[in-house]
Amino acid sequence: MSQINASLPLLGFAAWSGTGKTTLLEAMLPKLVERGIRVAVIKHAHHNFDIDKEGKDSYRLRKAGAGQMLISSRYRRALVTETPDEEATLPQLIAQLDQTQLDLILVEGFKKLNFPKIELHREEIGKPWLHPDDHNIIAVAANVKADTDLPKLDINNLDQLTDFVAKFAKQQHASKPESLSCSDLNPSGMLSVDEGRSRILEQIVPTSQRLEVPLKQALGQIVAKDILSPVNVPQHTNSAMDGYAIRGDDLDRDNYRVVAQVMAGHSYDHPLEKGQAVHIMTGAPVPAHADTVIMREQANQTGDTVMFDTSKGAILPGQNVRQAGEDLAIGQTAVASGSQITAPELGMVASLGLDTIEINRPVKVAIFSTGDEVQHPGEDQKANCIYDSNRYTLYSMLTQIGCEVIDLGIIEDSEAALDATLQQASNQADMILSSGGVSVGDADYIKTILDKLGEINFWRINMRPGRPLAFGQIQQTPFFGLPGNPVAVMVTFLQFVEPAIRKLQGIDNWQPQVFNAVATEKLRSRPGRTEYSRGTYSLDANGRLSVKTTGKQGSGILRSMSEANCLIEIVPEQPNVEIGETVRVIPLQGRI
Ligand code: AMP
Ligand code: MG
Repeated sequence: MSQINASLPLLGFAAWSGTGKTTLLEAMLPKLVERGIRVAVIKHAHHNFDIDKEGKDSYRLRKAGAGQMLISSRYRRALVTETPDEEATLPQLIAQLDQTQLDLILVEGFKKLNFPKIELHREEIGKPWLHPDDHNIIAVAANVKADTDLPKLDINNLDQLTDFVAKFAKQQHASKPESLSCSDLNPSGMLSVDEGRSRILEQIVPTSQRLEVPLKQALGQIVAKDILSPVNVPQHTNSAMDGYAIRGDDLDRDNYRVVAQVMAGHSYDHPLEKGQAVHIMTGAPVPAHADTVIMREQANQTGDTVMFDTSKGAILPGQNVRQAGEDLAIGQTAVASGSQITAPELGMVASLGLDTIEINRPVKVAIFSTGDEVQHPGEDQKANCIYDSNRYTLYSMLTQIGCEVIDLGIIEDSEAALDATLQQASNQADMILSSGGVSVGDADYIKTILDKLGEINFWRINMRPGRPLAFGQIQQTPFFGLPGNPVAVMVTFLQFVEPAIRKLQGIDNWQPQVFNAVATEKLRSRPGRTEYSRGTYSLDANGRLSVKTTGKQGSGILRSMSEANCLIEIVPEQPNVEIGETVRVIPLQGRI
């Protein structure tokens, strides 16, 4: 029988019934949780068990024929699946767990299957040992001495048992990447995406300079201090409908005398008396004492007399008016400091009558490309050369997030040229980005010069695409040496550069949007590596968010990025994603 595999550590407890497997697990789980280990338990039951209760809605619906009954609340959810034909296999059960939320899967039962187990043995049960016939047993926990070379644990020593399980979980995690032979996978010298990002963010200091700019220039920028409303919005209580304004204490009347017509931008300056109405347009201020508007469709005016048809809806005092200050009251914070100005904020600030905004000074980013083979678009193509696309994708992503771009062009592979460019860039810009020439073993000049000019780390990030990444400071200006491949440039920008820019801009703890979606195709990565596939997500027929890749995924294929609406993030803990499993999805809308 084949070995059962999960992308997470899987550990079982094998014992004869009566040994106290559940009691032991129940005692151990709080201790594992306390150590930060996220645990799932899969338990086998021999008999016709039921977790549902007779009379409960879920029970009734299941009995009425729901083959799968999924019940959910704020606190928990349960899927009860009827299995009339065949019991689910252990791999099928493992696939039902959301492995991105777990560190360890414990299994109670399934003792005949091939996966690592601890044997639990109590002398008083009077049953034979299991380990002589089961090579999957990795340790024995008993209250008598076992005759074996396996690790021996005391079944009554809970801390010792918990230590063993915790160590197993940790070793299994670490050993998965090491068991592969490719030197790329050696975790030493490789940083995870999260480690890389937090090392970068540690070195970023937000800008402190402020600038007052006209409204339109503030679009995409970060507000430097709370914008308080100097006025009430709306200024006056006004009508939300075209219709007739009357007094709310004067509803029981057959007809009213229309004393005026009020258009938006005008007013009726006399207090409204009982028996009177004004014909009023949407947005026009209601006269003093008038607080109720009846829509035109319910009114019947002859001469200067109006009657209302209450069969089309009762008239309630206060209906159909917008109160002064209902949107924003005087002194209320309209836009908080640290917010980004997008369409609604810009409109809101304008609605206050303000024509300037104090923003954090826009971040200036200098960009350049490197590599002898890289040419400007528009030139005649030389043999063995490629046109520079990276500066254009970088320019787009930077302007999209409100940066000013200083384009330094393509820098020839000469030490003097690069030296001069970097010096100049560090004087002008808040951040410098280059692409190309940072791979380990790359012959390009850039590495030697960077080493000389600044404090630069050359990292290998355990990700694909985008493994090589240089980061450091050139005369106190943060510098990123991005990889050369066009897709790798975009992915590393999204994962490392954008969070750094957001911090520079003065946004606290910026986080990209992430969703979970159901994979509609198999996805593969290497254990230990974070893989970013280009994908498209959409709602499927069941209303679930589902995702598929855009096809060919080479790191030079920019079209894969253009066709995508998301990155699919295959996390190190879940290198193999089966159809129907949940994956993380990072939407690209608004970011590229
Ligand atoms: P490198 O990191 O310099 O080894 O470059 C990796 C790959 O990216 C090579 O195929 C380069 O030709 C390509 N590449 C480097 N810079 C650019 C650029 N600015 N635009 C498009 N492709 C590039
Ligand atoms: Mg190169």
